[in-house]
Amino acid sequence: MPTDSLHHAYDTDQFRRVGHALIDQLADYLNRMRAPADDEPAIPYRAPAAALAEWSGALANGGGEPAVLFERVLQQVVRLHHPRYMGHQVNPPAPTAALMGLVGDLINNGAAVYEMGMAGTAAELAVVARVAEAMGFDPAAGGFLTSGGTLANLTALLTARSAKARELVWEAGMQQPLALLVSEEAHYCVDRAARIMGWGSEGVIKVPCDANYRIRIDLLEEYYQRATAAGRQVIAVVGSACSTATGAFDDLNGLADFAERHDLWFHIDGAHGAALSFSEKYRPVVAGLTRADSVIVDFHKMLLSPSITTALIYRRGSDSYRTFQQRATYLLEEQGGDQDPFNMARRTFECTKLSLGLRVYAILHFHGTRLWEDYVTRVCDNGKRLASLVRERAAFELALDPDCNIVCFRYRPAHLSDEAGLERLNRAIRQQLLEDGRFYIVSAQLRGRFWLRCTLTNAFTSQREMTELLDTVAQLGQRDAAG
Ligand SMILES: *Cc1c(COP(=O)(O)O)cnc(C)c1O
Repeated sequence: MPTDSLHHAYDTDQFRRVGHALIDQLADYLNRMRAPADDEPAIPYRAPAAALAEWSGALANGGGEPAVLFERVLQQVVRLHHPRYMGHQVNPPAPTAALMGLVGDLINNGAAVYEMGMAGTAAELAVVARVAEAMGFDPAAGGFLTSGGTLANLTALLTARSAKARELVWEAGMQQPLALLVSEEAHYCVDRAARIMGWGSEGVIKVPCDANYRIRIDLLEEYYQRATAAGRQVIAVVGSACSTATGAFDDLNGLADFAERHDLWFHIDGAHGAALSFSEKYRPVVAGLTRADSVIVDFHKMLLSPSITTALIYRRGSDSYRTFQQRATYLLEEQGGDQDPFNMARRTFECTKLSLGLRVYAILHFHGTRLWEDYVTRVCDNGKRLASLVRERAAFELALDPDCNIVCFRYRPAHLSDEAGLERLNRAIRQQLLEDGRFYIVSAQLRGRFWLRCTLTNAFTSQREMTELLDTVAQLGQRDAAG
């Protein structure tokens, strides 16, 4: 017999009551974020030790009131839906996609084995096909969704290894040291992936960037030859679209030409910026994207999905079967040539895997690619707007002209020119912004210099909030410089 606690946990009347109240609570939160009061923080920052003490102290052993807990969460989180949120590049999800997330959590279907996730698997494959097509790939392209850009990059590079390494590493282990070429500004997870695969620090050949933080195409040959002469087999070149810290996009056609010349795998880390494919205005920034052998895109950065949902798309969809099985052809023959597209675990890292396709499917179903077009265009326009507001101010400096919605700048008063002093001043500004909480922005180190970094990720951020931010930075800077 199920016990009382089991009956209580699955009580559907309670679920209905608590659920309805929760939706009201969330709608109120979203309303507050759409038109926040002047003192409504984007981040109600608290020191970690204080937060831990409160949460430990308040942890009940049953009997806690759900609405109280939900409210406590909403009071103590960084608010991505707030127009003064301009921090890390995670997007405020479309609320409808979050509702589908709730459905997914409740049914708890996986998407590794078809029978365990029929709707999720079908939705995933439909979504991947639609996204690949919208990016401009031909129908031979294919892939899957996986849990984040980090894992997607590692997966793609494993496929590259299968396709290009002279030895069957999957069977025999590493025989010859391998390497990939990537910009010095690439996301750290590319470096990590190479080290996980056992290539060591020399397996990641970091090619310097130009003044605009794009990989220097003119240096690729030299770095390639040097690694080859040292006994490494260079198997891949990785393009950043864009690099996380700067928002700069590599010249993808230049990288594709180089990869073709040397028969390398061309992978694009488009976690953030491959989404620009969906904007007619900004699509030229990712010209060359469909020449990649593989490309990833995070739906939680610029495509309005809850975290974490990432597509890994291969130009030849059949390549996706090579990742975890070097001798795929032999196996496929054994199984009658069936590539088994519906049992995703053949191709993905995850065993139990969220039904990631459902949330993206919901966005497409309810809003269409039109929403992505409007969102991407709006936030990239906002990036350009913030950059021009920075340029108008004498005491500010822009790190680079933004290609998308990531903008790096710093406060630089006329009397201060030494780098250490500028770093100290801007670090102090960023810390005071955090503790004050009205705005949320982050920072980046570029070529040893410290910059304030904004991602304009909320489509409802307007020139007003950007001007207020710059005014606040100037005030803090003046006060700090005076004190
Ligand atoms: C965010 C990001 C990643 C990591 O993706 P996660 O989804 O956070 O794992 C990798 N590369 C780039 C360029 C990114 O912007």
